[in-house]
Amino acid sequence: MADRPKLTTTAGAPVPNNQDSISAGERGPLLMQDYQLIEKLAHQNRERIPERTVHAKGWGAHGVLKITGDISKYTKAKCLQPGAESPMLARFSTVAGELGAADHERDVRGFALKFYTEDGNWDLVGNNTPVFFVRDPYKFPDFIHTQKRHPKTNMRSPTAMWDFWSLSPESLHQVTILMSDRGLPVSPMHMNGYGSHTFSLWNDAGERFWVKFHFKTEQGHKHYTNAEAEEIVGKTREGYQEALYNAIEDGKFPRWKMQIQVMPELDAEKQPFNPFDLTKVWPHADFPPIDVGYFELNQNPENYFAEIENAAFSPSNIVPGISWSPDKMLQARIFSYADAHRYRLGTHYEQIPVNRPKCPIHHYHKDGEMNVYGGLISGSKNAYYEPNSFGGAFEDRTATEPPLKISGDAARYDHRKYDDYAQVRVLFEKVLEPDEKERLFANIAGTWIDVPEVICERQLAEFKKVHPDYEAGVRKAWDKFKADGTYKPNAAPISEATPQIAAE
Ligand code: NDP
Repeated sequence: MADRPKLTTTAGAPVPNNQDSISAGERGPLLMQDYQLIEKLAHQNRERIPERTVHAKGWGAHGVLKITGDISKYTKAKCLQPGAESPMLARFSTVAGELGAADHERDVRGFALKFYTEDGNWDLVGNNTPVFFVRDPYKFPDFIHTQKRHPKTNMRSPTAMWDFWSLSPESLHQVTILMSDRGLPVSPMHMNGYGSHTFSLWNDAGERFWVKFHFKTEQGHKHYTNAEAEEIVGKTREGYQEALYNAIEDGKFPRWKMQIQVMPELDAEKQPFNPFDLTKVWPHADFPPIDVGYFELNQNPENYFAEIENAAFSPSNIVPGISWSPDKMLQARIFSYADAHRYRLGTHYEQIPVNRPKCPIHHYHKDGEMNVYGGLISGSKNAYYEPNSFGGAFEDRTATEPPLKISGDAARYDHRKYDDYAQVRVLFEKVLEPDEKERLFANIAGTWIDVPEVICERQLAEFKKVHPDYEAGVRKAWDKFKADGTYKPNAAPISEATPQIAAE
């Protein structure tokens, strides 16, 4: 016992007994003054913090990003220069399920990366797919409502999902990938990551390049069918945690190759598609991926809550040489991710050790939750405002990025006039193999289990605009579920759909 540390209160005093509470007699009631009993109960009541509204269930690890290529002509970012190495944190997640959800559910996977660079933290908060369901953040909260529980039944609602998707054709690309093999990876290690949005890189000459970030799995793509996943979930709901944790404990460190696609700033105008539309990819033939380096995950967290649940990734975190783009979804996420963390973790969430940059930090934000470093953060105890005469931190003009060469009238632009079908058609016709198409059809029809016919027909009409074979394949699979009695449409009263009025 001699080498065991001494148990103390949170204030550091020795605890004489941690097994028997103080009572008035052996058979008597407890005493209010047993503060350590109260302290234990109070702590237990506060062990949960608000769960993320989306991406609640996650798995993560620490690692390193190594730059082996040379993209210095595009960016001054120190962390992207040849030979640079940056410590990093990765958190993978499902989107819709709550904290206790099973890992092997068909869903988009979050792919969030935090690079601790000498110029501050760079967070790339992507997904395992290169596109997304919507291109305008005005629609995002509605979309997420369809993925979460119905307010009355408290159950997930395929009717809500397909109602929204069938009325939002921009979702076709992501829905097709989600329902294809890539929608159910066997583990976080067997999927790609994509920055998804268009970002930008800028160099010392003041040139800006639009860029897409890709992280290609070196473990190979591996997926489960729905039937295989059902069997796994019957045995374990934590399959991703087990796979990632055990691989790292066994020294089998997973790696992803980092690539970028690059578009000179003014070429954006010349593209037949909007390069800032999150429902589109940049074709590889036109924008060939360039090798940048790789990242490896090689250290499990010592404490899951402290290092993964407390991890706060936000696209607002960029470093000199890397910036955003006019992508409307990205613009909204710059606000909403940081705001989610202020709510979930406290105003000064960046001071939590896993979020804390590994470079000096100086700013003038003052009090509030989680401010554990106090006034010295400005670099001088009398400088708690700016301008000041007390040697407080001062702006660094070398971090000024080149101006964005964009202009336009402020209005509500009609994004419904965009083509939502051409890229999905390429995916369907040229990328998906015949057997994968069959699984795609069955996966889609399989989720229609109780969706009213009018909604299914509306969605089939959208598939037909992609390719007649897409519609025919899903219809055939649906007919099978109708014939064997698996399809039982619910009796939700259907009214006219929300009119899709073009913006003025
Ligand atoms: P390419 O033929 O050059 O690229 C096809 C890409 O599709 C592959 O490089 C691979 O991306 C990805 N892919 C391969 N198999 C599957 C699959 N089973 N399910 C989903 N994606 C798969 O053509 P384009 O660049 O013109 O893209 C064609 C279509 O491919 C796009 O419309 C898009 O749906 C899809 N795609 C394109 C990506 C891109 O960034 N251009 C990325 C991912 C998908 P990867 O190398 O990233 O694994």
